[in-house]
Amino acid sequence: MNHKKSEELYKEAVKYIPGGVNSPVRSFNSVGISPIFAKKAHGSKITDVDGNEYIDYICSWGPLMLGHSNEEISKGMEEVVSNGISFGLATEIEVEMAKMIVEAYPAIDQVRMVNSGTEATMSALRVARGYTGRNKILKFEGCYHGHSDGLLVKSGSGTITFGVPTSPGVPTDIVKNTLVCRYNDIEDVKRTFEEHGQDIAAVIVETVGGNMGLVPGKKEFIEFLRQVCDEYKTVLIFDEVITGFRLAYDSSIGYFGIKPDMVCFGKIIGSGMPVGAYGGKKEIMQVVSPVGPVYQAGTLSGNPLAMYLGKRNLEVLRDNPQIYKELDRKGAMLEEGIKNNLKELGLNYTVNRAGSLVCLFFTEGPVQNYDDAIKCDIEKYNLYFKEMLERGVLIGPSQFEAMFLSNAHSDEDIEFTIKANYEALKNLL
Ligand SMILES: *Cc1c(COP(=O)(O)O)cnc(C)c1O
Repeated sequence: MNHKKSEELYKEAVKYIPGGVNSPVRSFNSVGISPIFAKKAHGSKITDVDGNEYIDYICSWGPLMLGHSNEEISKGMEEVVSNGISFGLATEIEVEMAKMIVEAYPAIDQVRMVNSGTEATMSALRVARGYTGRNKILKFEGCYHGHSDGLLVKSGSGTITFGVPTSPGVPTDIVKNTLVCRYNDIEDVKRTFEEHGQDIAAVIVETVGGNMGLVPGKKEFIEFLRQVCDEYKTVLIFDEVITGFRLAYDSSIGYFGIKPDMVCFGKIIGSGMPVGAYGGKKEIMQVVSPVGPVYQAGTLSGNPLAMYLGKRNLEVLRDNPQIYKELDRKGAMLEEGIKNNLKELGLNYTVNRAGSLVCLFFTEGPVQNYDDAIKCDIEKYNLYFKEMLERGVLIGPSQFEAMFLSNAHSDEDIEFTIKANYEALKNLL
C-alpha cells in the first residue's frame, strides 16, 4: 500500500498547520506514520488521496450513523444552499429541529443549538452553575467533554494519547473547581459528595465512556449518580455527544432507563456538520439568556444547512427503528468475531461493546475505568493499527478510541474485518 501523496501533503501541511492537522486525533503521530489524507467516502468505505480504499471504523468519530455521503440525508441540500446559508435571524427549521430533539429525549423540555460538543458541555455547565449558584463540578477520569478549560482534566483519548493529562494553558484557579472521580466507582463519588456535595453544581458523565477506548457505565453506577444528584440538588448532565441517537433513538434514557436533568448532544445530530446542543428541564433552561441572566450565544448556531442535514439524519433514524437492531446485531457480530480470534490465538485481550461501539483493548480485562484502560500494551496496539491499515481496515490511530459502526457496514465488511483482525493479531505473536 502506497501513501506517497498523503506523505507529500503532510509535508506541506505541517508548514502551515500545527502538526499538519486541525484536531490532534487526525495525526497518526501515535502510531508512528504520517496521517492519511482523505479524498472521498461512500457508505462504509473511505478512499485516501493515493487511491487506497479502507473499510472505515472512524466514521468521522461517530456522526455518520448511516455511513458516508448518504443520499437520503443530503437530498434537497442544494435548495437549502441556494436559499441562503446563514441569516443571523431565527428560521423555521431551528424550531423543527428543537422539537424533534425534545420529543426524542423525554428528560428535557427545551434545547439550545450550538456549534460543537465542546460548546455544548461548556454551556451546559455554565447554565448548571447559574441555576444552582454553586461553583464546583464533578467529572470522571477518562471521560472527555470537549476542550474547554475546566473540563480538560484527566480527559481521555487525545489527551492520554498525547500525554497531557491536564493541559498547560489551563489556570489552576479554573480547574480547582473541577472534581474528578473514578469512573464506575460509587464509593469514590459518595466520599466526594460527603465532602463537597453542597458546592457541586453539576455531575457530568459519559454514560458509556467513549474516550478511553470503550468503557460502558454500569447501570448501578449511573443509578447512583441519579440518586446522589437528587439528594444534593445537583444537576446531573449526560454528555451524549457520542451516545446520543446512537445507543437508541432515545439515547441513554432508552439504554439505561435513567433520566438526567440536562443533556449534551453533538456529532450525530449534525450528521457531519459542526453542531452541538444542550437541553434541560424548563426551569433550568429558563436561566439562559435572553429569558434569564446566564449568557450563551453563537453567530452561526442553528444555521440552516447544519439543521437540514442533522434533521434528515434524525428523521431517518426515527422512522426506521430497525436500524438500531441492525447496528446492535452488527456490533455483536464484530465483538464475537474478534473474541473468537483471540481465543483461537490464545490471547487474553479484552473486547468491550455497547451497541454499535466496539473496542479491542490490548490488556487482560475487565476494563471498567481509566486505570484499567491505561494498562494496555500501546506498542502492540500501534503495530496492530498498521497491520489493519495494510489490510484495508481503518480504525482509530489510538488504543483509546472506539470503533464506530454505521448502518452502511455490511456483513461482508464485518467478515472481512474479522479476518483481517485474525491475520493482524497472528502477525503480532
Ligand atoms: C467529541 C466529544 C465532545 C466534543 O465535541 P466536539 O464537537 O469535538 O467539540 C464532547 N463530549 C464527548 C463525549 C465527545 O465524544
